[in-house]
Amino acid sequence: MISPANIDTSDPPPRIRADESAVLLEIAQAAGSTLELHEVLERVVEKTARLTGADRCSLWLLDSTRDLLLPAAIYGIDPTFAARWKRKILSIKDERLSQEAITTGQPVVVLDAATDPRTDKKAVDFFGDKSILVVPLASKGRVIGTLFLNHISRHYTYPPHEVAIIQAIASQAAVAIENAQLYEESRRQRLELLASFRRIGDALAAGLDLPDTLRLVVDLATEMLRATVGSLTLCPTDDAPGETKWAPVDALERYGPELEALTDLANEVIQRREPCYVADLRERLGEIVCHGAPEALRTYVGVPLFLRGRIIGTLGVFHALPKRFTRPEIDLLASFGAQAAIAIDNARLFTRLQRQVEELSAAAQRNAELFTRLELEKKRLDVIFQNSTDAIFMADRDGRIIAFNPAAELLTGWSACEVLGRGCQEVFGPGLGETTMRLLAGEPPDDGVAEAVVVNRSGERRHVAASYAYVAASNGEGPFALAVVRDISRQKEVERLKSDFISMVSHELRTPLAVIKGYAATLLNPSLHVDAERQQRFLRGINDASDRLTRLIDNLLSVSRFESGRFRLNLQLVDLSDLVCRVVAALRGSVGSHRLTCIVPPEGLVARLDRDQIEQVLVNLVSNAVKYSPEESEVVIELRAFDDPSLVPVPVRFASGIPRGVLLIVRDQGIGIAPNHQRFIFDKFYRGDAPAVRRVAGTGLGLYICKSIVEAHHGAIWVESQVGRGSTFYVALPRE
Ligand code: ADP
Repeated sequence: MISPANIDTSDPPPRIRADESAVLLEIAQAAGSTLELHEVLERVVEKTARLTGADRCSLWLLDSTRDLLLPAAIYGIDPTFAARWKRKILSIKDERLSQEAITTGQPVVVLDAATDPRTDKKAVDFFGDKSILVVPLASKGRVIGTLFLNHISRHYTYPPHEVAIIQAIASQAAVAIENAQLYEESRRQRLELLASFRRIGDALAAGLDLPDTLRLVVDLATEMLRATVGSLTLCPTDDAPGETKWAPVDALERYGPELEALTDLANEVIQRREPCYVADLRERLGEIVCHGAPEALRTYVGVPLFLRGRIIGTLGVFHALPKRFTRPEIDLLASFGAQAAIAIDNARLFTRLQRQVEELSAAAQRNAELFTRLELEKKRLDVIFQNSTDAIFMADRDGRIIAFNPAAELLTGWSACEVLGRGCQEVFGPGLGETTMRLLAGEPPDDGVAEAVVVNRSGERRHVAASYAYVAASNGEGPFALAVVRDISRQKEVERLKSDFISMVSHELRTPLAVIKGYAATLLNPSLHVDAERQQRFLRGINDASDRLTRLIDNLLSVSRFESGRFRLNLQLVDLSDLVCRVVAALRGSVGSHRLTCIVPPEGLVARLDRDQIEQVLVNLVSNAVKYSPEESEVVIELRAFDDPSLVPVPVRFASGIPRGVLLIVRDQGIGIAPNHQRFIFDKFYRGDAPAVRRVAGTGLGLYICKSIVEAHHGAIWVESQVGRGSTFYVALPRE
């Protein structure tokens, strides 16, 4: 048993020593001198004990939501024990004295603690209590706790006027306690409001997006009012025409249907344009329209969210228990709502801005891609434009040239910087010029292609085919004409050569045939007597004409073999000295008065060649030398071995390509070949246009065949010639 300190058991029974009003004043002064709750409590118990002469005085506060008694302050025991005592929370039903005082609202007197059935015997034993007085602490009709006065030193009877005074003390104390509680609560709320405003302020500064801001607002409101759940509604806006209801996902999982059922509360807040408090939703069920009866949510407070005088939505919190929110809390929610409205507006603005920025950056990205594609396209077009072998030019609506590529420079002899801005007639001549102007006037050439002759700056005539494109006017520019001009001179030449060839081949065939026919008919005519010498001459004529026919047919066959890819070399070791001598000897019979001189190495010269083909080369070269040089002039056919290409009289451009081997030279003293024709004479069907050439029969195939055969042997053929002095053809062939 603990003995209370400083108790003198021999003293007369303690009595309240002062008069009632003085006592109450003293209590009021002691309790009212501070707003700190724990100080108020401590002072109440101390003063009460001192004034009443009780050995111990303690105070319990009631937690009505949980039906608990919380030990709040005690006087009359050892302070270290007091700390332990404060941790001893009791359930009301276990503390019968308090329970009675609270339920009746009346003081409870225990004259003999040891025998009274209502006392906790363990505690009585422990403290050595003899008599106990319990008074309820009531303020504004609400019991907030109980005040105990314990007598240990002796039994005490608690006369009624003393009980009345103690009751008055208790109400005085209750008011002071409640004031301190209110003060504490308002301080807590102030701090929380400050903290919440700070967090909302942080959110404003952080530029949260709308869903995050809504979550924060609801979370903070719920936390601040210690509510069970919060929800938010947003009125329709231009961006979001429908009304938006918002509650955190976790809250929806638990209270979704109920929150849905209570939607009309928000509408009520909007209509009333002021905070709305429902102390018990169950009592209001009849008044509000709802589709499901709220079971778990009892108290509601909702506030309108004002922004620049307009309601943008509502913020509401619910509590699972009824009558949970106080007026200050409602005010708190309203001020928080004002701040939240700004944060929501800000988030909307932020979201809108973000969307705009995203749209802008997407558009910029698309533009950049388009630009890159265009750049690439432009580069590709530029490469085509610059490297095209066809001349390309573009003319503006007045026919002035605005683009001109290198091939066009080559074709016309004008440089791009000279022609830009000039009329296309001036540069391309009247043919193309007029077609271009007609196109610009909306009259395209038939088939889109026009053929014309372009005379270039050095007076050379070129046949061209121009295909046109019309580029319609747009953005105040144009129309434009785009022309791709192809030089078809060569094609035209080939066409001319082909038709020449046909007439020439017919002539070439007919002449020897006419000779054969004439001689044969004469010989066969029985009425004509032909002497032996004439007979011999006729037969030689027939023989020569057949040789000529054979040569022509051989040449035609060779060409056809080259063209069809059927040409194959039949390589074998051939003594070229022997071959040259034999061919020259055979030709001597048919060359009339020309002198054929043959110079070959006497020891012979062996090379790996196709005998028949090389024979044809030699025959063609010697025939040409004879054809294109005057009667009785000399044609020299020479064969040489060579091992050092530098010794070979050869134009520089062939030097690197000359094989070590044999060199066949055919030199005449004929008409010669003009320098500008020399590079064409090896082309198929090409015939010189000098009258001396035109006079003699020919197909334009002889040199083409020579070149094809020599190149098939990996050799080279070229000519040196001077007009009027003669020509020398060189054939270089490898030995192996
Ligand atoms: P063809 O002799 O049947 O016309 P070629 O292909 O043999 O055809 O010769 C092509 C052209 O080369 C001749 O038309 C002629 O103009 C020229 N040519 C060839 N050989 C000689 C030569 N020895 N002297 C002068 N011109 C020649």
